[in-house]
Amino acid sequence: MTVRTSGLHHVTAIGGDPQRNADFYLRTLGLRLVKTTVNFDDPGTYHLYYGDASGKPGSLMTFFPWPDAPAGRIGTGQATTTAFSIPEASLGWWKQHLSDHGVETTVDDRSLTFRDPDGLQLALVAHPQGDPRDPWDTKLVPAENAIRGLHSVTLSVSKEDATADLFTGGLGLTFHSQDGNRIRFQAGEGGPGAFADVLVTPDAPRGQVATGTVHHVAWRAPDEPTQAAWRDELLDQGVRVTSILDRQYFRSIYFREPGGTLLEVATDAPGFAIDEPLLELGRALKLPPWLEPRRDEIEHLLPKLKLPTENNPEQA
Ligand code: ZN
Repeated sequence: MTVRTSGLHHVTAIGGDPQRNADFYLRTLGLRLVKTTVNFDDPGTYHLYYGDASGKPGSLMTFFPWPDAPAGRIGTGQATTTAFSIPEASLGWWKQHLSDHGVETTVDDRSLTFRDPDGLQLALVAHPQGDPRDPWDTKLVPAENAIRGLHSVTLSVSKEDATADLFTGGLGLTFHSQDGNRIRFQAGEGGPGAFADVLVTPDAPRGQVATGTVHHVAWRAPDEPTQAAWRDELLDQGVRVTSILDRQYFRSIYFREPGGTLLEVATDAPGFAIDEPLLELGRALKLPPWLEPRRDEIEHLLPKLKLPTENNPEQA
């Protein structure tokens, strides 16, 4: 194995109403909207990217909000929980904040678990060694308590072996720890943004990807040559990988792990400042060059979205 990921790049999920989705992630969770664009494979639908101040890889949670899509089912063959990293001293603050916003939480030592308005399972986790990443600062969620980025994902599987083999082989992760039926893997040195858990639940129902479920989990590749070499290596291992796709803000390949979850390897570059200034990220609808000629038609199809003012830097 020559290629190893340094950690999570983004998690993409399916939402329902885009306004409700944006309000929850921007106001309640205090993330920054770092790109407003469309699903390149279905341009009548938004693709909303939430992240930290500059939209760094490892901070990103993205959504395809489909207002009329049916509810999905959380189960095996999916990433069933997406966890964000918060400061250890902020657990109590978040419990109160989420309660003030009508979100029920389950609390344990170091984490809070809850659901978004579409039923997606989320967690906030405090890492004992802290998390040095720069947060976004908003009126409702001040920087001292703010989410630092992704912490980890949990993939639910009916049996462990093949998924664990792909994690340690195809992704270059290493074993970190085991707690009952939960096996933790880490990328590089581990830490927030570099953990993935495999949860073995043989009797759980099979998941169905639709509203309120994760669509795919993306891992970081430092650059395009590494991604190309990685693709070759996966093909050599018999993994069915897509060709390299231009996602405008990164290049992507996709493949399924044997347990059923769709994975992606995405490059760190070029990032979100490629088509608008850093200070203005997310405020205007951005389209890739190949969709720009259809802008009028696309804008007509998309539901109107009103961004919460608390999330703008000048008003924060
Ligand atoms: Zn993706």
